Amino acid sequence: ERMVTGELQNEDASVELSLRPANLQQYIGQQKVKDNLGIFIQAAKMREEALDHVLLYGPPGLGKTTLASIIANEMGVQFRSTSGPAIERSGDLAAILSSLEPGDVLFIDEIHRLPRSVEEILYPAMEDFFLDIVIGTGPSARSVRIDLPPFTLVGATTRAGLLSAPLRDRFGVLSRLDFYEPDELCEIVERTADIFETTITHEASIEIARRSRGTPRIANRLLKRIRDISQVKGEQQISLGTTDHALDMLQVDEQGLDHIDHKLLTGMIDGFQGGPVGLDTIAATIGEEPQTIEDVYEPYLLQTGFIQRTPRGRLVTPKAYQHLGIRKEDD
Ligand code: ATP
Repeated sequence: ERMVTGELQNEDASVELSLRPANLQQYIGQQKVKDNLGIFIQAAKMREEALDHVLLYGPPGLGKTTLASIIANEMGVQFRSTSGPAIERSGDLAAILSSLEPGDVLFIDEIHRLPRSVEEILYPAMEDFFLDIVIGTGPSARSVRIDLPPFTLVGATTRAGLLSAPLRDRFGVLSRLDFYEPDELCEIVERTADIFETTITHEASIEIARRSRGTPRIANRLLKRIRDISQVKGEQQISLGTTDHALDMLQVDEQGLDHIDHKLLTGMIDGFQGGPVGLDTIAATIGEEPQTIEDVYEPYLLQTGFIQRTPRGRLVTPKAYQHLGIRKEDD
């Protein structure tokens, strides 16, 4: 399992619930998104209406699920959670929707992976709160209309562009989550250390924040591992020395890159003189799905300026050559 992926790993599941902030105030960073949502929530509560449907998009591990549950808490309603791939038939979705109480939040993770037939029954449900279900087959088939309570759909996806236009248009609020700044991640690390009842020096928190790829899930995962090592060493508090040592052991470099990032970058350098090279070619070279590279590996490399997107493909930047200690051959 990869140490620095934003995607949920088995080891995260046991702690994540206890780390989840309960309200907007405890949710660190993403100030613009929080300000906007705060106003919409307050207005909906004043009108005693369900909140508009919300689409949250951004790389994995930035806190989309957390934010969805906070929306439910702030609205004072139930939080129901499912995911696109889990809903196989329209009947599955109909069962969930018809069990909602007025105002409830239904969270659909990976909403871009809903089957098309299911997506279509979601349109009238989102727009006018009813379901149009066909019962039976052949000549005896008939369509039944089921009224639904007003509810709030919170959808999450890694990229808004993966959604079909008719679905995207039915969200009143579209919020993009960005990678966190190091000082925000540092605050998250210190909050998590508190919940773990561990002490950590400020320098060590900063170091974890710097190497966590702007992603709270990674910061929390690294802290958990480093805490174990520090404890075995018998430290009173997690020190910078132990943190550095542990991160080296875990093969997370000073910029948060791991062996897979190195493989991707050196693959582009060795095989294609640093590019431009197409996504499919990169995928084939390192044996990964193009979609995974685009959603999981690449966003952070783009954000930190190690690769660039050009019309002719991806390009390794001078910054990456420097970081890897490789000299760029002249064309
Ligand atoms: P995915 O959709 O890939 O599962 P996600 O974007 O829904 O990821 P979450 O599960 O919400 O991510 O968050 C991952 C972890 O990071 C959780 O343990 C959560 O408590 C913590 N976290 C996320 N955002 C914040 C934040 N702003 N402040 C404090 N903790 C956060």
